[in-house]
Amino acid sequence: MKFALVDGIRQEATPGVRGTCPGCGSPTLAKCGLKRLHHWAHVSTAVCDRWWEPETEWHRAWKNLFPTEWQEIRHVAIDGEVHIADVKSTNGKVLEFQHSAITPQERASREAFYGSMLWIVNGNRLKRDLSSFREAFLNAPSVGSETEARAWLLSDRAAAIIERWRGGRCAVFLDFGDAEFPLDWIPSTRVLWWLSYTLRGRVTVTPVHHQSLVDHVLSGTSIRGFGRPMPPMSRRSGRPRF
Ligand SMILES: [Zn+2]
Repeated sequence: MKFALVDGIRQEATPGVRGTCPGCGSPTLAKCGLKRLHHWAHVSTAVCDRWWEPETEWHRAWKNLFPTEWQEIRHVAIDGEVHIADVKSTNGKVLEFQHSAITPQERASREAFYGSMLWIVNGNRLKRDLSSFREAFLNAPSVGSETEARAWLLSDRAAAIIERWRGGRCAVFLDFGDAEFPLDWIPSTRVLWWLSYTLRGRVTVTPVHHQSLVDHVLSGTSIRGFGRPMPPMSRRSGRPRF
């Protein structure tokens, strides 16, 4: 966990400090070693939220794109079940940053628990996922005209990572970091891959601007894909012209 309560105030881990878990109220210890991110751990080995996974640099970088008061938010269901959402916006949208494998059952129960949520999935956990994902759409015709975002309509078994995430109710965004895609209109950094599943065994795969998803969560602006090849750079401003 990035945050625990110290004298009732949410704080990040600092050496030698004790706090309490915002989820269950049990004591936590600050872990500030060299190998892992500074974090809080329960003093007992119990983890109160069975959905919690060890935090990676990837998790922490994603969380830090949002206000601290939106990070690691305790969420209590009507029946008293408690979980800690990675990010929860003020209008109630939950983001879960998923690195570890997750079963379809667990995914469904999290979607039901949070209601309105998005999955951000680390595409780099298994090395083979990137190559099979790239192959799945590079040979398929793209859909979408000049005015719409470019996308592909594929079978929901077209690649292993696509197949593993099929059957869910909420949008999934794959994050392959700075992996290269051999299409000149896709920038080499800051792209996410939006998977939108249909009921008929198909999935729409849309590359989108990373920042546009962040802005969408922060302020409700729309998520932007790529409509056409990148326009030429303007000499004067050094920025793309539209
Ligand atoms: Zn706890």
